Amino acid sequence: MISGATCSVVALASPKGTDTFCELCQRRAHVQCSRCQVTFYCDAEHQRADWVGIHERICQLLVPLRSPTLFSSQHPDCIETQIKKVRMSMELIEICKSVAQSKFSEGKYQEALPAAQFCLRCSMDVHGPSTAQLVPAYLLLAEANMGLGNLDLVTQLLSQAEWVVLKSPECGHTIHHQLHKSLGLLHMATGNLEAALFHFANNIYFASEEYGPDSPVTCGGYFLMANIFARQGKMSIARSLYSEVAQTWHCLLTKRLETHSQKANEPDFLFSQRAEVEEMLRTMLEFEQNASRKDSAQVALVAHCLAMLWFLEGDSAKVSHITKSPSINFTLTQ
Ligand SMILES: [Zn+2]
Ligand SMILES: [Zn+2]
Repeated sequence: MISGATCSVVALASPKGTDTFCELCQRRAHVQCSRCQVTFYCDAEHQRADWVGIHERICQLLVPLRSPTLFSSQHPDCIETQIKKVRMSMELIEICKSVAQSKFSEGKYQEALPAAQFCLRCSMDVHGPSTAQLVPAYLLLAEANMGLGNLDLVTQLLSQAEWVVLKSPECGHTIHHQLHKSLGLLHMATGNLEAALFHFANNIYFASEEYGPDSPVTCGGYFLMANIFARQGKMSIARSLYSEVAQTWHCLLTKRLETHSQKANEPDFLFSQRAEVEEMLRTMLEFEQNASRKDSAQVALVAHCLAMLWFLEGDSAKVSHITKSPSINFTLTQ
């Protein structure tokens, strides 16, 4: 198994004649990737885990970066060589981010670890040990470990991220919003609900500065706060926040439905996060259906959102199931 705690830094290139170390755990290596021949592992298990996690995607991209012969016609320290290496590393960082995100959306946190670890290592290599550019990589690794329940490690990673943000006044709203969201989720996981509320409120503030008060990102912050109020038994405030969220999504989905036929193949923010959106809508539907005094209009509004989401995905079976549900009166959404 990969240890969640393996985020120490090893050099991206290992010069000839030096010892080689495992890509995942940094113990002495005994196995080499036969395809790229520049990546090493302590054993076959770690090689397999890395292959599934990220190496399959980046194996060949590592060859020019790690092979000492690549830029042999040029001096290894010349500016041009450095620029090429930085550009390649930036490309790798983006690939790792997107691979980790897609694993998160499938709930595969263990598989996301190698990509998140590599992203941090590569970011440190390019940007240095304590720069603002490391924060997204810390947050990515924290998210993977949060999914695995390694809360002590999440605490460490987020304090490193917090420290960097404190020292970097140039950090924008997006970084602040993401950091507060992660800190809120950590406090929620450890049961410190008041601290979680504080961070989620900050998350909403920075998200709304960056994306606007009605954006899906800001709305995600309201949803997180509502979950806490629901856990604290403060049902009326939870309900009013959920209702805010439901109305924003109803509006977004209605607009999306209107332009659906014209923009069929457009890559879509909504569907890159569709699992999260569906989960959110289901939570709100369940909350409302279990409420002692049911608000039928709110039930219908959320159910209508789910129906629109499934319709946009072409899942007609789910649409017909929910629209025929006897407990939901859809005429209330009109
Ligand atoms: Zn290993
Ligand atoms: Zn390889």
